[in-house]
Amino acid sequence: MSKSLQAIRGMNDILPEQTPLWRYLEGTVARLLDNYGYKQIRMPIVEFTELFKRSIGEVTDIVEKEMYTFEDRNGDSLTLRPEGTAACVRAVLEHGLTGAGQPQKLWYIGPMFRHERPQKGRYRQFHQIGLEVFNIDGPDIDAELIVLTWRLWGLLGIRDAVKLELNSLGTSESRGRYKVALVEYLSAHLDKLDEDSQRRLKTNPLRVLDTKNADTQAVLVNAPKMADYLDDESRIHFEGLKARLDAAGIPFVINTKLVRGLDYYSKTVFEWVTDKLGAQGTVCAGGRYDGLVEQMGGKPTTGVGFAMGIERLILLLETLEQVPEEISRQVDVYLCAFGEAAELAALALSEKVRDQLPNLRLQVNAGAGSFKSQFKKADKSGALYALILGDDELAQQVIGFKPLRGQGEQQNIAFDALAAHLATCVVQG
Ligand code: ATP
Ligand code: MG
Repeated sequence: MSKSLQAIRGMNDILPEQTPLWRYLEGTVARLLDNYGYKQIRMPIVEFTELFKRSIGEVTDIVEKEMYTFEDRNGDSLTLRPEGTAACVRAVLEHGLTGAGQPQKLWYIGPMFRHERPQKGRYRQFHQIGLEVFNIDGPDIDAELIVLTWRLWGLLGIRDAVKLELNSLGTSESRGRYKVALVEYLSAHLDKLDEDSQRRLKTNPLRVLDTKNADTQAVLVNAPKMADYLDDESRIHFEGLKARLDAAGIPFVINTKLVRGLDYYSKTVFEWVTDKLGAQGTVCAGGRYDGLVEQMGGKPTTGVGFAMGIERLILLLETLEQVPEEISRQVDVYLCAFGEAAELAALALSEKVRDQLPNLRLQVNAGAGSFKSQFKKADKSGALYALILGDDELAQQVIGFKPLRGQGEQQNIAFDALAAHLATCVVQG
């Protein structure tokens, strides 16, 4: 195929054989968030470039080198959203959703775009489910975010494969003091730092902490620790969070090097990581961003949130073989009809059945075909039962009912009794 007719590198089609797993995951999350009282918000995929520069920060990987930015026909600089928080905050401000200190518990789902090097678990279009809470400033809500993700891992059967890492970045004042100490220490070891870290030391020194370079990591062993610079408020907040996680029985490890890639975090930061996916091990990441709304022109409004990467969760479900078998079966009953008269009767009958059993997954054969070919299609569809309607059945106003997976005998069912009969043998979601 010519290059122009291929998908863009790092942007994947999600094929019909994969969508059942996506829908299962998305449905599980949506139900869970409903149950915890979160409301969905949907933002545009494109925003003014300035929004991301202002909120994410100029000196971040995303803004420096990962954004899909272009000029539209008006000459405005637009960007495909690389993450959801900025647009969510923009929407909240634009529509006054947090006016007068009103709390909001919001979530969103959708594609994000970053020009990164595509590899397993890392794509240029990827999908996130994100959650943002505004105007609730205590550790109770930080804990709730973590508790509900823990419940999600339980529902998905991946709890044993993920680990919670936790840190506190303090308030911007305490982080400022820590930064000074860190820069002083690292500057004394400048020659041992990798090139990237030397650059970051000047632009965004905290980011040196999450370097992957072994030499720099060795230097960091004796670096000042953020925990020693925490202000009282942040320390009490962090203790409150840890106590709640203990109360909920959620294991965690403190990772003092956890700083997160974005500029806007304060106090709590956390990541759920797995060692089952190679280098792309973070499946969910988030934290508190109490200064962001004000930085974006709003009234002081606290915020906390996270985003999880759907592709990585899907990979994890597959790797751990936690894909529920029943999700791939999308047909309950397959109806075969032979000849024009039977086809007409089948259409009328199937619509009547759908009226009575709105959740029944009933596939009616299209494209005619011999008994053998229709039956083959019925079997291949994964249906539990085939319905068979030919001239003989039609004359008696009955339909053949044949179990395809070895549960019971074939029998004829009267048209009038079909819906009731199906209701007894098909579990309807
Ligand atoms: P990483 O360190 O892996 O690059 P990040 O810190 O840039 O992640 P966030 O911006 O916090 O990621 O996004 C939240 C989650 O979204 C990540 O934990 C990950 O699961 C997912 N994610 C981020 N970037 C990608 C990508 N390019 N492809 C697939 N998933 C991604
Ligand atoms: Mg990244």
